[in-house]
Order: sequence, then structure tokens, then C-alpha cells
Amino acid sequence: MRVVVVGAGVAGLSCARELAAGGVAVRVHERGRVVGGRLASKRFDGRYADLGAAYFVADHPDFAALAGRWRARGLARPWTDTLAVYPGGTTTGPVRWAAPGGLRSLATDLAGGLNVRLGSELTAIPADADAVVLAMPGPQALRLRPPAAVADVARAQVWEPVLAAVCTYGKRSWPEIHGAFVNDHPVLATIFDDGDRRGDAAPVLVAHSTAAFARPRLADPSAAAGELAAAVNEVLSLTGRPEVHVHRWTYASPAPGTSSFATDGRVWLAGDAFGKPRVQTAWLSGRAVARAILGGQSSER
Ligand SMILES: Cc1cc2nc3c(=O)[nH]c(=O)nc-3n(C[C@H](O)[C@H](O)[C@H](O)COP(=O)(O)OP(=O)(O)OC[C@H]3O[C@@H](n4cnc5c(N)ncnc54)[C@H](O)[C@@H]3O)c2cc1C
Repeated sequence: MRVVVVGAGVAGLSCARELAAGGVAVRVHERGRVVGGRLASKRFDGRYADLGAAYFVADHPDFAALAGRWRARGLARPWTDTLAVYPGGTTTGPVRWAAPGGLRSLATDLAGGLNVRLGSELTAIPADADAVVLAMPGPQALRLRPPAAVADVARAQVWEPVLAAVCTYGKRSWPEIHGAFVNDHPVLATIFDDGDRRGDAAPVLVAHSTAAFARPRLADPSAAAGELAAAVNEVLSLTGRPEVHVHRWTYASPAPGTSSFATDGRVWLAGDAFGKPRVQTAWLSGRAVARAILGGQSSER
């Protein structure tokens, strides 16, 4: 059996790993130059900053076991269970995990030993595979013109955009907050202390915009740099002038979905839209697709 996985984000990599472990020949196509998708770390002046997912939560036992293995190898670490809330207060929740090498290093780890073709954007469902897994946001999957059973589910997904601003200051001059949820703000939804979560104390904050701020600015995200930096300074009462890099996530966050995947039997759709929109969901969705393919394969024997 031959399987093609399209997309080397967490969902695609988890799917491909499970398939490969089950003895299936699997090839992964990724349009980007690196793996990870929204588990994204980009280098600025030689240092990685996390500009997609801010952290991950591992409250499913299997994903928690993977997090534990990453921890044992020094790839991931529990970061904090407490974040600030603006205006006023803190919130305590599940332990958020971070990665000293940037969160994308975890995707790189998942990709180890797999047949991944980078810079390889597919524009149609490949004909040379017994099964094809589209591991990506539904609107991106629709570009490959999947069959109706998959297209209908992809079309029904509702996605919101985010602009992420990596703000590099001359020195650290903010409170010890780890990160913050910003409520009822016209520009910002969250701010994270990237030096704190990475553990190198770099003077770098990463802010994520609201969807309403991002939506009209997707055509020219860099033009929003000044407004984003001003909003960060206003919320944290800072006066420094950071260097700002803005990254556009057109499909950042889906409305939470049900089920683990969609399929017509040959083409599959996986990703974080199948559950709460987070890294763990993507990993579970990709693995569920792989297990369903492997299960179908064994029942055909
Ligand atoms: C700003 C932001 C903040 C977030 N914060 C958090 C957080 O704090 N905690 C958390 O758990 N989650 C967070 N998330 C969500 C988390 O990043 C996602 O749930 C997870 O990374 C999704 O993985 P995925 O594999 O489903 O999709 P993606 O990561 O989007 O992977 C899809 C991949 O498919 C590739 N692709 C698309 N089309 C094609 C094609 N035609 N051919 C080849 N390749 C293609 C893309 O390049 C991409 O690499 C955040 C996301 C964003 C954007």
C-alpha cells in the first residue's frame, strides 16, 4: 500500500509516523521550505522565535507520553500554568509546554526518518497512491479539489486569521508575566515572552492580533508593524522601540469541530479543525487517520 500525505504540519507528520510504523510506504509533500506548518519558529539575527503556536498543552495520555519523551531528550519542557490577563489579573490552567529550540524543532523531530519532500506544493490529488491524506486547513485542502465527502467538510470549517508580531527590544523591561491574554482590545489577543518560554531571556515578545484587526490587513501585513508594537507597549506600559517582524496567518484558528477526520474512503482530511484548535488535536487527528487506514488495510487482507 502507498500513501501520500500532503502537509508536514503536526497532523501530517503524526499521520506519516504512524503509517510508517505500521509498515506502510508513505511520502509527505510539504509546500514550505521547512516542516512544521503553524508550529512555526523563525530565525531573527540567529535566534529562533515562535511565531505560530505559542505553546502546547498535553492532556491526552498519548500526547502527554510523547511530551514526556521530548522532555527526557531536552526538546520540550513544562513552561507555566499561569498567564497574566489584561486588564488586571492572572489565570491558572493546564501546564503549557515550550521548546528550548523553538516549537518547530518538535516537528523536525517528528519528521525524522520520514520521506518528506519540501518545497513541493501539490495542486491536485495525486493519482499514484492508494490513500491521500490532506493534513491542512480545509480552505487549503479545497485547492486540491477533493471529492465531495471531503470538500463538504472542508467548506464547512470556519477559520480566523491572525497577525503575529515578533518584537525585539534593546533590553528586557517588562513584568514577569510569561505571557498574557489581552481582553477586549482592538488590536491584540495575546502577548508572549519568547525569551522566557525559550529559556534564553532574550528581549523578545511575540504578540498575536485579534482576527478583526488581522482581516483587513492580510494583503499588507508589514504595514501593521507600528500599530502592533504600539499596542504591545500600551498594554505592558513599555517605552522601548522594538524591531518588528509581522507574519500573516490567513488560516490561523478554526472553530472547534467534532469527529477526528473526514474521508470518502481514499482521500482523507486531518488537522486541528477536528477538535479544539491546538497542537494536540492536530497530532491526534493525523494519528486517527493513520489508524483508520491501517485498520482498513488489515481488514482487506
Ligand atoms: C498564531 C497562532 C497561535 C497558536 N497558538 C497555539 C497555542 O498556543 N497552543 C496550541 O496548541 N495551538 C496553537 N495554535 C494552533 C496550532 O499551531 C495548530 O493547531 C497546529 O499547528 C495545526 O497543525 P496542522 O498540521 O493541523 O496544520 P498546519 O500546521 O497548518 O499544517 C498544514 C501544512 O500543510 C502545508 N500545505 C498546505 N497546502 C499544501 C499543498 N497544497 N501542498 C503541500 N503542502 C501544503 C502547509 O504548508 C503546512 O505546513 C496556534 C496557531 C497560530 C497560527
